[in-house]
Amino acid sequence: MKMLINGEWCDAASGKVFEVRNPATGDLIEEVPFGNEDDVRAAVEAAGEAFADWSTKDPRVRSKILLFAATEVRRRNTELGTLLTTEQGKPIREAVDEINGFANILEYYHALSAREQGEYLKIRGYGHAAVQRRPLGICGAIIPWNMPAIIMGWKIGAALTAGNTMVLKPARTAPLTCIRLAEILEEAGLPPGVLNIVTGPGETVGREIARNPGIRKVSFTGEVGTGRQVAMDAAPTMKHLTLELGGSDPMIVADDADIGMAVEGVIRGRFYNCGQVCTAVKRLYLFDSIADEFIRHLKSRVEEIVVGNGLDRGVSMGPLNNRAGFMRVVTQVDTAREQDEGTIITGGRTPEGEAYKRGFFFLPTLVTDVPYDSILFSEEVFGPVLPIATVSGLDEAIDLANNSRYGLGASVWTRSADVIARATESLEAGIVWVNQHLRIPPEVPFGGMKSSGIGRENGSRALEEYTEEKTVLIRL
Ligand code: NAD
Repeated sequence: MKMLINGEWCDAASGKVFEVRNPATGDLIEEVPFGNEDDVRAAVEAAGEAFADWSTKDPRVRSKILLFAATEVRRRNTELGTLLTTEQGKPIREAVDEINGFANILEYYHALSAREQGEYLKIRGYGHAAVQRRPLGICGAIIPWNMPAIIMGWKIGAALTAGNTMVLKPARTAPLTCIRLAEILEEAGLPPGVLNIVTGPGETVGREIARNPGIRKVSFTGEVGTGRQVAMDAAPTMKHLTLELGGSDPMIVADDADIGMAVEGVIRGRFYNCGQVCTAVKRLYLFDSIADEFIRHLKSRVEEIVVGNGLDRGVSMGPLNNRAGFMRVVTQVDTAREQDEGTIITGGRTPEGEAYKRGFFFLPTLVTDVPYDSILFSEEVFGPVLPIATVSGLDEAIDLANNSRYGLGASVWTRSADVIARATESLEAGIVWVNQHLRIPPEVPFGGMKSSGIGRENGSRALEEYTEEKTVLIRL
C-alpha cells in the first residue's frame, strides 16, 4: 500500500518501506512507505493548497462527501474488518463493529454540519457583534494502533466537517485500515490534498507533524510520555492541541449492584480488544460483602474466553498487537508476581500450544488481593490483566479510584441513587459511567482529566476544537 499526498498514492521520498505483520501469526501482510520529514512537508504543502477551496465550501457539501464515504464503508464492513483484524489482532466481530463505528462518526458529523455556527450580539454602546467560527487551517493527526479506525474517525470527522485540511499519521503496526478508509473517502469525492496520509515512524513523521510551522493544530492520541513530547514540539509554533492520552480506569462495584450485569461489564470492559483500550477497566474495586461471589462468577466467565486468531470462528480475544506491548504486559505481571503483589487466580501467562507460538498471545488474567500501591494499579496495564482489590465502602473506593495520575474514565455499578450521586460528583474522570463502561457514542465529548489529556473529541464541542473565533464589532 502507498501513502496519500495531494490525491496521489505515492512511495516515500526515501524510497524505503517497512513491513506490517499479522500479530496472530507473524506473517507479512504488506509493505508500506517509510515516510520521513520530507513526506510530511509535501503533505503540508498539499493540505495548504487544498484549504482555500475546502474551507469556503458549504459545510453541508463537505459533510455530504463524508456521508457518501460512510455508506460505502458500511457496505464494505466485512472486507475492512478483515483487514483490521489481520493487522491489529482483534476478533473479526469487534473489527466490524469498529468499522461501523467509523461510519457512525462520519454520519454524526454530517447531521451536525447543518448547525449554525457563531453568534450575533447587539451590545449597548458598542454596536453589533458577529462572532464567527472559522476553520483553523491545516491540522495534524497522530494516531495509535489500538482502535485505528475509530480514532481516525474522531479526528477527520470533526476536522474536515469544520473546513480544515489534514495530514494524518497512522501507527506503524496498524496503518492499512486507515489507508483503505482514506481511499474510500477519495472515491467518495474528497478533493486532493484535503486528507493526506503519511506513514512512518513517530520520531520523524510524528515529530515533523508536531513541529511543522504550517500546521495550526495537532490532535494526538497515544501514551502520556509521547503526548508530552508532542506538546513540547508543538509549543514553539503555538499550535492548538488535543491530547488524548493513557488511562487507568477504575470500576467500583457497590454491594447493591446487579452482579451478573457488572461481571459482563468487566468481561467487555477489560478484555475487549485484548485489553488494549484507553478506557478499558484497568482497576476493579469491589465492596467487601460481594467480593467472593463476584470473583467466583467473574473467574468462570473469564475462563470461557476463547483466545486465538481473530479471524477464526468462535475466538473472543485475539493477540496483543505488537512485541513491545506484549513484553510490557509480561513484565508487569512478572514484577507483580515476584513482588508478591496479589494472587493470580487465572491466566498470568501465554497460552500453550502450537497455534500460539508465533503470535503475541496472553491469557486473560485476574489478580486478586492486589495491594493498593501495586504497579498493577499505578501503571497503565495495556493488556488483558485485571487487578482486583476490595474496599470497605464508597468513600474508600472513591479515594483509591482518584489516587492515580490518570483521569480518563471511571464507572460505578449500583442501584442506589445516593451512590450514583456521590460517585458521579467525586470521581475525577472525563467520562463517568453508571452501570456500564467503555461505551462512547459520538454525541458526547470525550477526553481526559489530569495526565489523561487536554481537550475533547466527539460531540458538537469537537467542532469548536477545530475552529477559532473571530469577533467582528460593527458601529453603524
Ligand atoms: P504511542 O504514544 O507509542 O504512539 C501513538 C502514535 O504516536 C503513533 O502513531 C506513534 O508512531 C506516534 N509517535 C511516537 N513517538 C512520537 C513522537 N515523538 N512524536 C510524535 N508522534 C510520535 O501510543 P501507542 O502505543 O500507539 O498507543 C497506546 C496508548 O494510547 C495507550 O497509552 C492508550 O491508553 C492511549 N490511547 C488513548 C486514547 C484516548 O482517546 N485517550 C485512545 C486510544 C489509545
